[in-house]
Amino acid sequence: DPMAGILPSLEDLLFYTIAGGAEKIPAHKFTTALKATGLRTGDPRLKECMENLKVIMKTTSDGNLDRHLFKKCVQSNIVLLTQAFRKKFVIPDFVSFASEIDALYENAKNLGGGQVADYIPQLARFSPDLWAVSICTVDGQRHTAGDTKVPFCLQSCVKPLKYAIAVNDHGTEYVHRFIGKEPSGLRFNKLFLNEEGERNEYVGFSNATFQSERESGDRNFAIGYYLKEKKCFPEGTDMTSILDLYFQLCSIEVTCESASVMAATLANGGFCPITGERVLGPEAVRNTLSLMHSCGMYDFSGQFAFHVGLPAKSGVAGGILLVVPNVMGIMCWSPPLDKLGNSVRGIQFCTDLVSLCNFHNYDNLKHFVKKLDPRREGGDQRVKSVINLLFAAYTGDVSALRRFALSSMDMEQRDYDSRTALHVAAAEGHVEVVKFLLEACRVNPVPKDRWGNTPMEEAVHFGHHDVVTMLQDYNNKYSPPGGATEDKEKEISEKNIDGLL
Ligand code: GLU
Repeated sequence: DPMAGILPSLEDLLFYTIAGGAEKIPAHKFTTALKATGLRTGDPRLKECMENLKVIMKTTSDGNLDRHLFKKCVQSNIVLLTQAFRKKFVIPDFVSFASEIDALYENAKNLGGGQVADYIPQLARFSPDLWAVSICTVDGQRHTAGDTKVPFCLQSCVKPLKYAIAVNDHGTEYVHRFIGKEPSGLRFNKLFLNEEGERNEYVGFSNATFQSERESGDRNFAIGYYLKEKKCFPEGTDMTSILDLYFQLCSIEVTCESASVMAATLANGGFCPITGERVLGPEAVRNTLSLMHSCGMYDFSGQFAFHVGLPAKSGVAGGILLVVPNVMGIMCWSPPLDKLGNSVRGIQFCTDLVSLCNFHNYDNLKHFVKKLDPRREGGDQRVKSVINLLFAAYTGDVSALRRFALSSMDMEQRDYDSRTALHVAAAEGHVEVVKFLLEACRVNPVPKDRWGNTPMEEAVHFGHHDVVTMLQDYNNKYSPPGGATEDKEKEISEKNIDGLL
C-alpha cells in the first residue's frame, strides 16, 4: 500500500493524542486518560485491549508503550477508543460533569431526616448514613460516588424492569388486557453477566428478604385476592404463586453501580450500553418510561413529574432509578425515606440535577443560557454562535443581528482569525450592519484581526467609502483628545447592548 506510512492510522492518531509529543506512553498514563473519558478498564467492550495490555506489561521492563506496542494493545477496540478520545460520547467533557455530580452528591449527603423502613429486619438494619449515586451514560461512561458497592434490594424499583420485560415478551396489547398501569409479573431475565471478578455488575437475591416479604405481605395478599375475585388474571393463573414471584422480584439485590446500568439500558432504547446487547424492544422501553414518568414516585409522582420532569422509580429500600432518556441512567440509594416513601437524599439529588442541567423533559435545549448542557462540549456552542454572527454580518442580515443582540449574544466575538462581525461587515460594505454594530451594540470600533487589520482598513481596502465615512465619524465622536487608549476602547465596548434595551 503506497499510502501506508503517509497517512497515519487511527492507532497512530490515538497514540499522538495520548502521548502528547512523548515517544512512549506509560501504561498508567493510558489507563488514566481512558478513565477521564468515562470508560472503565473493566468495560466488556475493552476486554481485548485490557488483555493485550496485561500481556504486554509482562514483557516490557519499564511499563512503557512505544508506538508499536500501543498499536498492538488498542487495535482490537480501536473504534470505541477513537470515539472516546475524540470526545464523541454523549457527555464529551466527562471529567467536569463527574465533578458536578460529586458536588450534588456532597450537597445531599448533609441532609438529615427521614425514616429507614423497618417493617422487615432486612431493611431496618441499614444505616441511615448510607448514600450512593451511580451514573452510566448511553455510551457506557461511568461515574460513582459514595456507597456504590453495597448490595440492597430493588423492591419497587424492579417494577419498571419486570413491566418492560413483560411488554417485550408479550406485547403492549396483551399485557394491558390485564393491567392498567402495572403488570402481574412475568419471567425476569438475568440482565447482566460478566465474568470479570470484582468488575461484575452485581445482581443477587436475598432469600431472607423474600421470606420476610411473604410473611409481612398481608396487604399484597389482600390486593391479590381482590384482583382474583375481579378476574384480573389470565385464565389458569395461580395467584399465590404470582405473589411469590412478586416478592422474589422485590428481593433481587443490586448495587448502586449495577442498577445504574439497568437504568442506562432504559435510557438507551433497550440496548445495554456496556455489552451492546439488546435487552428490551423500543416499545417496551417507551411504555415503561411513560409509566415511570407519570407514576413512579408513589404519591409524589405528580410533583416529581412537574419539578424534575424525568422518568423515575422509587423503592422502599431507598433506591431511586432515574432515567435521562437518550443520555444516561442514574441510580440513587439512601435508606431514609420521607413521608411519601421516597429517599430523602435521592429526591434532593434529582431536584438538584435538574436545576443544574437542562434535563427536564420540557427544558429548552436551544436557548440554554442559565442551565448547563453537559451533552455539548464547552466551546461548541460558542463556535456555533461566532459562525452565526459572522455569517449574518457577511450577508448583511441586520434583523438576524438584532435577534442575536437581544438574546445577549456577545457581539464582539472573534473567530479563529480574530475577526469580528464589524470586520466582516466593513469588508463587505454593509453600511446598515456597521451602523447597527457601532451605534446599537457599541462594539469596539477598532479591533485588530490576526493580521493587525481594523474594520476601517478593511473598508478602505475594498473601496467602501460610505463605511469609511461612518467609521471615521464614529471614531471622531468617541475618541478622547490625544487618541483612543486601550482602556477607552474597552469602555466603549462594554456599553455593548445595554443601550439597546
Ligand atoms: N415489598 C414491598 C411491597 O410490595 C415493596 C414496596 C416498595 O418498594 O414500594 O410491599
